Formats: sequence, structure tokens, C-alpha cells
Amino acid sequence: MSHIPAYEREPYLQSLQTEIAETGTEGDRHFVVLADTVLYPEGGGQPADRGWIAGMPVENSLRVEGRIRHYLAGRPPTGQVQVDLDWTRRFDHMQQHTAQHLLTAVAHDRFGWHTTAFHLGEHGSDIELEAPSVAPAQLAALEEAVAAEIRAARPVTARRVSPEALATLPVRTRGLPEGHLGDIRLVEIAGIDLNTCGGTHVRSPAEIEALKLLGTEPLRGGTRLRFVAGGRLRRLLATHHERNARLRQLVGTSDDELVAGVSARLDQLKEAQRAVRSLEEALAVEAVRALAASPGKIASAHWPSRDLPFLQRMAKEFTHLVPDRIALLTTGEDEQGAFVLCAGEGVTIDLPAAGRQVAEILSGRGGGSGRIFQGKATRLSRLADALARLRSLVESDGPAAAGRS
Ligand SMILES: [Zn+2]
Repeated sequence: MSHIPAYEREPYLQSLQTEIAETGTEGDRHFVVLADTVLYPEGGGQPADRGWIAGMPVENSLRVEGRIRHYLAGRPPTGQVQVDLDWTRRFDHMQQHTAQHLLTAVAHDRFGWHTTAFHLGEHGSDIELEAPSVAPAQLAALEEAVAAEIRAARPVTARRVSPEALATLPVRTRGLPEGHLGDIRLVEIAGIDLNTCGGTHVRSPAEIEALKLLGTEPLRGGTRLRFVAGGRLRRLLATHHERNARLRQLVGTSDDELVAGVSARLDQLKEAQRAVRSLEEALAVEAVRALAASPGKIASAHWPSRDLPFLQRMAKEFTHLVPDRIALLTTGEDEQGAFVLCAGEGVTIDLPAAGRQVAEILSGRGGGSGRIFQGKATRLSRLADALARLRSLVESDGPAAAGRS
């Protein structure tokens, strides 16, 4: 076995015949260690590869005590096996990772911004820069400079050097994993960047295709810079393009007028909502007048599809217009209803106490003080019982009776 794994020797190798060197379990997870592997374990900001060992999916790969463990969904095979790499996913990682090298190098050389962290996410990637802020014009200049380096297509190479040789080289970042012994791997973009790195990279910045900066956010005194590169950039553009096409259809404008079109629709919506509110106001007044004309001490009305604010508006109107009567107003379906109980100044009933009884009968809960009590109801079918209870409260001693119960 070579002590340098295949993913490092030949990052473009997609499958390999090898042997299982060790099997084991960690909790209820099975893992294997291979004599050689094309599957990169997580590290340096680059996620672990996915792939298959003897056809079995590899769920994760990690470096543990200097050995690479591949975690499998089931009981591991033994002997000779074929290892296959999920190449689409890996090549994407190689594009994003090499893009990061280039971005970090250009940000440092052109603007003096040092990169302190790299995150390669499932959808987007970012680096953290030691810069309190980055102006839009600087971002544009950085993106342009990176594009020029992608076009220049200088070779990307990797080699191993001794710690003594490392000390004499102009290496940008000397960070090494804790406890690292022996040779150190260097990755070089000719003439631009020399860095310690154990990840996988494309052969040339030309394979990055393109890099787009997506924006910045302040972060711990520095700046997070989001970017997307390679095939992801084309997929992102395709997604935006499709979304725009759907929006154009919905709004009925060209791309250029899309924002103005949506903004105008939202203004219309606000206007319509204002109109609805004022119509509801008028409706509440009319409904209260009709209710006031009904006979009896207790008035009641039900609206299948209004809401609590509508009932509250009505209640306010009712107590004002008919101060010597009680009204029980309800809305909604049986299990998703609401009610308002109200009484004007001329009614001597303990309204909160009566309201709690109504709530209990209607299997709801609510609250209120003074002349209006409102709540939710989950059994509007028992409305007749609630009205009967109210009648008995009114016919008895009034406030004292209601308060005692
Ligand atoms: Zn790297």
C-alpha cells in the first residue's frame, strides 16, 4: 500500500480495485479502512466524498488516528473490493475548493485581505476575510481580477516537502492539522499561490469555469464573502432564469419591469385591503342595526366566514347603539370558531364571569374586561346551550348570580 491515498496522487481517478485492510464498528455504525482509496475524508473545509464500496453506499469518510474510515450503511464486505467515487459531487467540490484558493490568493495580493476560514456548503460557499468592510467597487474589482486568473489558466500542482524545506518556502498559510508529522503537502497555482493543503483540486483554474461573488456580511469584526463557482454557477443561473420566467408570466411584464410590476401589485393589494376594511366597517354598522331591531334581552348572530376583529368592531358598535342589551356574536366553523360576548353600560351582568361560562360551553377559551369578552370556540354546535345559559343568568339576580357561579 502507498501511504499517499489515490485521491491525493490522482485526484481525477474515479474508481479503484483494492483490499479491505480493517473493519470495525463505532456505536451501531460499520466502517472499513481500505488499502488505498479514491474517497476523500472530510478536511480543510472540503466535505467528505460519497461513493460505493463493493456497491454499498459510503455515508461518510473521516480521518481517525491517521487512518481513513469509510462508514457504510450495512455490514461491510471483506477481501478485494471495487471503490467507486461519486464523481459529479467530487468534481463540484474540486471546482469550489480551487476557486477558494484563487479567491483567497487574489484577495490577499490585491487588497491585503487575509482569509481566516473557508466553508464549502451544499449550495453555496464562503470565505471569511480579515477586513472590517468591503465596498461594492472593491468586490467588483476582486471578481474581475479572479476572472482574469481563471482565463490565464496557470497550472495547479501538488507536491510533498519536508518540514525543513517548508520553512524556506514562501507559503501563504502554514496551518497544519494538530499532531502532523512528516512531509507536508503543498498546493501551488503557478505564480499566484503556494499553500499547505490536503484537499482535491482541479488541474487548472480554467476548470473553475467562472466565479461569481454573491455578497458580504459582517462577521466577528471581519467580513464573510459568499461565492459560487463552476457548474454550480450555471445551475444557479438556470434556477434564477426559470424563476424569472415564471414571475414574468405571473406579473405579465418583461424582466426589466419585474420589480416595478411586483411593487405595483403589492400597492394595489394594500389599497384593496384598505377598501375591504372600510366595507367591513360599514357592514358591521348595518349588521348591528339589524341586530338592534331583533326582540329580546339577548341578541345573537353568526357569520360563517368573518373574523374576530370583525366581531369586536360589531361589539363596540352594539354596546354604543344598544346600551341596555347583551349580544353573543360568533363566526367560523364548528371546531374553528370565535365568539364575542358584549353588553352595554345599562346591563348589570358580570360580563367576564358570563364570558367564561360561554367559553366553557363552547369548549373554548377567552378573556376580556369591561363590556367585551372574546375568545375561541371549538364547539359552536352548542351555541343554543350558551344562549340558554345567558338567558338564565340575565333572569336571575344579574351580576351577583353570574359572579358566584
Ligand atoms: Zn486546497
